[in-house]
Amino acid sequence: TTRVMEALALSRRPLRLPVALARNTYDVVIGSDLISRAGALLAPVLPRKDTIIITDETVGALYLDKLQSALGETGIASRALTIAPGEHSKSLATYQRLTDAILEHGVERRTTVIALGGGVVGDLAGFVAATTLRGLPFVQIPTTLLSQVDSSVGGKTGINSRWGKNLIGAFHQPLCVLADVSALATLPRRELVAGYAEIVKSGLIGDESLFEWCEKNGAAVLAQDPECLAEAVRQACAFKARVVAADEREEQKSDGRALLNLGHTFGHALEAELGYDGRLLHGEAVSIGLTLAFSLSVRLGLCPKADLDRVVTHLESLGMPAHIRDLPYSFRITDLMAHMQRDKKMQDGKLSFVLVRGIARAFTTRDVPAEQVREVLLADGA
Ligand code: NAD
Ligand code: MG
Repeated sequence: TTRVMEALALSRRPLRLPVALARNTYDVVIGSDLISRAGALLAPVLPRKDTIIITDETVGALYLDKLQSALGETGIASRALTIAPGEHSKSLATYQRLTDAILEHGVERRTTVIALGGGVVGDLAGFVAATTLRGLPFVQIPTTLLSQVDSSVGGKTGINSRWGKNLIGAFHQPLCVLADVSALATLPRRELVAGYAEIVKSGLIGDESLFEWCEKNGAAVLAQDPECLAEAVRQACAFKARVVAADEREEQKSDGRALLNLGHTFGHALEAELGYDGRLLHGEAVSIGLTLAFSLSVRLGLCPKADLDRVVTHLESLGMPAHIRDLPYSFRITDLMAHMQRDKKMQDGKLSFVLVRGIARAFTTRDVPAEQVREVLLADGA
């Protein structure tokens, strides 16, 4: 029994991943049952034992009581504000409702805003924290795989405008991130797969051992093995943290943070074409976008065909969408091209792409001939 108890204690010990930034360093804490230990984990980092939790109805029903009682254990006061789930809530209207509720109650500068939820809650609550009283302390408790590996690292916060996604925002780094892999147990499988696509993306950009790890352990991650989930989150966060540390405010003209968009120019075009209505999740679009970015690189003579095949084999072995023809919707090439030309990443009128010279060898370029892009879309089933 001591051996069993030791193993239990070990599995309960969270991993700490420091994210080093120009002005400060914070930890991404990764492990099981972190929400129920949030009081002890957050007490040392909060400037004052007072918090405002922002969550959505779905996540709130599952984890809000647990979080509030855990905070209460170390004397941390909390008030909760709940939004409707979904991308639609990343709006000026919801932002206004939240800031009104916070200011009406009388808040002080050292009260911490805690985001409890997926990327929607994280981006919105982060923007509320960044702007209310010119900046309140902020903590992220991401509850989707996507938000644990992607949106909770990097400091980007924001809301959508009628002119496009994420066009109103600010950089606002958290005091701490608690990535509780136990919370993923209630996540719908499609959402889990969508988050996993961003992990595969990280490996394909520049971490060959992460991609190899995915080839061996991807199935266990999607089967919710807690150790594998924690390890996947750790590796993907570590990768993103390295990229972000080198280019904190996306000022580098090439490479740097721009590499994180591997598969995204194609992915965004597919998503935009379906109108962000939930038929295609962002991560599903990225999964197909990864294949397209590799296909384009092969077509341009930059990447061995064998590497493209390896990517497609991995995605298909897990039942992930790998080609446009896998989707039950049809797309017109001219419409997809128009979305890509409108992408906010466009500079000086040229299409910019993240391409690859092979697995884990991504780079950015700005002079991809449109004709080659059309050919790739056609060959993939558009
Ligand atoms: P989301 O926040 O909409 O969550 C997806 C769905 O899962 C929601 O319905 C939510 O209620 C539900 N949910 C969340 N956690 C759950 C849980 N543990 N159990 C059951 N259900 C749960 O979506 P997302 O994929 O987490 O995030 C997408 C958002 O993230 C987008 O708005 C995107 O722009 C943003 N994003 C931001 C960054 C960044 O750097 N800031 C990076 C990537 C994505
Ligand atoms: Mg993404």
